[in-house]
Amino acid sequence: MHKLTKAALTCHGLGRCFISEKHVSAVKIISRGLVSAEHGDVYDVIISGGGMVGSAMACSLGMEPNLAGKKILLLEAGNKKVMDRVPEAYSTRVSSISPSSATLLSGIGAWEHITEMRCKPYKRMQVWDACSDALITFDKENLQEEMAYIVENDIVVASLTKQLDSMSDNVQVEYRSKVVKYRWPRPHHMAESIPWVQVTLANGKTLQTKLLIGADGPNSMVRRELGIPTVKWNYDQSAVVAVLHLSEPTENNVAWQRFLPTGPIAMLPLSDTESSLVWSTSHQHAEELLELDEESFVDAINSAFWNNENQSELIETAGSLFRGTLSTMMPSAGSPRQLPPSVAGIGPKTRVMFPLGMGHASEYIRHRVALIGDAAHRVHPLAGQGANLGFGDVACLTQLLSQAAFNGKDLGAMQHLLEYETERQRHNLPMMVAIDLMKRLYSTNSVPVVLLRTLGLQATNMLPALKEQIIAFASK
Ligand SMILES: Cc1cc2nc3c(=O)[nH]c(=O)nc-3n(C[C@H](O)[C@H](O)[C@H](O)COP(=O)(O)OP(=O)(O)OC[C@H]3O[C@@H](n4cnc5c(N)ncnc54)[C@H](O)[C@@H]3O)c2cc1C
Repeated sequence: MHKLTKAALTCHGLGRCFISEKHVSAVKIISRGLVSAEHGDVYDVIISGGGMVGSAMACSLGMEPNLAGKKILLLEAGNKKVMDRVPEAYSTRVSSISPSSATLLSGIGAWEHITEMRCKPYKRMQVWDACSDALITFDKENLQEEMAYIVENDIVVASLTKQLDSMSDNVQVEYRSKVVKYRWPRPHHMAESIPWVQVTLANGKTLQTKLLIGADGPNSMVRRELGIPTVKWNYDQSAVVAVLHLSEPTENNVAWQRFLPTGPIAMLPLSDTESSLVWSTSHQHAEELLELDEESFVDAINSAFWNNENQSELIETAGSLFRGTLSTMMPSAGSPRQLPPSVAGIGPKTRVMFPLGMGHASEYIRHRVALIGDAAHRVHPLAGQGANLGFGDVACLTQLLSQAAFNGKDLGAMQHLLEYETERQRHNLPMMVAIDLMKRLYSTNSVPVVLLRTLGLQATNMLPALKEQIIAFASK
């Protein structure tokens, strides 16, 4: 029996379990192998996919002093996204960026560009149930600190691109470079096996890398070609997104989300007069919303935030009795209900829909390969966590690769890749389970479930310590 060196995860078969020392030493043998130029240039790291997460990974590695002198390449199938000046109109695709993601982006020199361009901090989040009066508000230190920031995805990528341009000595970037084929090295030394990962581009060029980082999104080719088992399903919902014009200027520093039985509708602040809509609903309703004329679409949004047609007297009475009891026991706890702004119009051509799904790769790593971002995990947008989980992967993998380089280790070796997988699955899995449960809990108007969640939400809203823990968990 080989001694087991690492217990990475034991969560219902969703993650890796063990790796033996024999495996690790085999990797060491390979890592001492000769660099073969026969199959194209050899890189230390190739990142496949330059979306928000892959571009952040490239910047992060390029900034790392311990990785100076390493050959790092970012490959992106799409065009280079440059932004000389901020476009007048807001883009439809935005993300809520957590403070820890902002810290990562700041450390890699992109946050300054982002804030110079356009970025809206918000200080409170109010979430409430359309089937009852229950609500919960989240804020930090009584509005002293930002909860998160709403940033257009294009601005995040453009800022990272600008930063990558300024570090071209450290990181090479190839746009319009789609990977069409991968060949994988074997962990055990064999005469015919190649020592590194081999990458073939659509233009026929072949490259090699000691470590491949798959950042190629939810339909990751890297994950597919490696045959990594993935738990995934499509939700019965699509998200309709749009830029909203508010009826009147407001401070607009609250993010609003109301859970309707068909799915959550969220309004995220962009400026004093504009917000971003993310409305998750049945596929059929989403299609109908796209077909509506502007006036009817705006009416549908206002009605979704304001009408009480899903409330029942029984839930109402039980909820107010419970709320009354809690207020007597904890008179200073809880937070007042605020009303969302009303919507007057939408940005031209900003209505788009996206089918929603969840996916989790049971392994984030293989020999000389690591998955990051949506390639490893995809979540429902109700908690605004997808990109934030990806930025967490970037921070963790950078730190481990930097340490490995400092210790003179092979960057593609399993030891530190396993640490990456363990650390990130421990964080990402509970978050994904919580998001999926929340989606299910609120996708019904059955009375017992509504009653249960009404009492649960009201009780949580009265417990500042618990709310702080929820914020801390979501901000990591
Ligand atoms: C409606 C909606 C709202 C959301 N809101 C939020 C939010 O508020 N906060 C949040 O944190 N997250 C949010 N998300 C999730 C977030 O958008 C994603 O998690 C994030 O964009 C994933 O980034 P990524 O770089 O991992 O993948 P992607 O953005 O999919 O990027 C993958 C990149 O890889 C490239 N690529 C693919 N295949 C190849 C190949 N073979 N060769 C070369 N390049 C390749 C693609 O061109 C692409 O640029 C939301 C998602 C949706 C749908």
